Amino acid sequence: MSSTDGDNNELVSGRGCGHCTLCCKLLEIKQVASPRGEWCRHCAVGVGCKVYAERPSECREFNCGYLLWSGAGEHWYPARSKMIIVLDHDGSRLAIHVDPKRPNAWREQPFYADIKDWARRTASQSTQVVVCVGEQHIVILPDSDVDLGTLADDERIVTGQVTENGVLRSFAIKMRADDPRLQA
Ligand code: SF4
Ligand code: SF4
Repeated sequence: MSSTDGDNNELVSGRGCGHCTLCCKLLEIKQVASPRGEWCRHCAVGVGCKVYAERPSECREFNCGYLLWSGAGEHWYPARSKMIIVLDHDGSRLAIHVDPKRPNAWREQPFYADIKDWARRTASQSTQVVVCVGEQHIVILPDSDVDLGTLADDERIVTGQVTENGVLRSFAIKMRADDPRLQA
């Protein structure tokens, strides 16, 4: 979804999509029936959108975290890093979508240090930090990385903190959406 002109988002000065088209592959775009992990049929890879003037609102309104957030350094440019930062789930999840062709890109430095830093900063808030490689979900906690694997449609990621033996510990688990504990 190579779009930099979302109405409500202020872009980081000097940043733009350039030759990047990675969101047209890594993200699901329902309005053009493009599944996650496959190039949209309208994408000229590394060039832009072949139907730019008529692209759907889902594409027009999208800007990735690199464009919007100065907290992500220049090294996060998606065309080079092969990762896209997206604030998902109404802002409650900082997702790092990784190109399955480079599944370990998030483990490399300085990316991994950044991701851990974001996990530490958000640990006491309700924001989750999740690395997505295809259907695999890895929750990044301050002191561990929890691979939750594939999420079924009716499953949700639950994160939080508990005190055990006087020590505060972060956790991440999968839970069915209808689990009464989620309604509490
Ligand atoms: S319609 Fe264009 S902008 Fe939208 S996903 Fe497809 S190639 Fe990207
Ligand atoms: S991933 Fe970001 S920089 Fe790349 S095309 Fe999409 S919005 Fe632009």
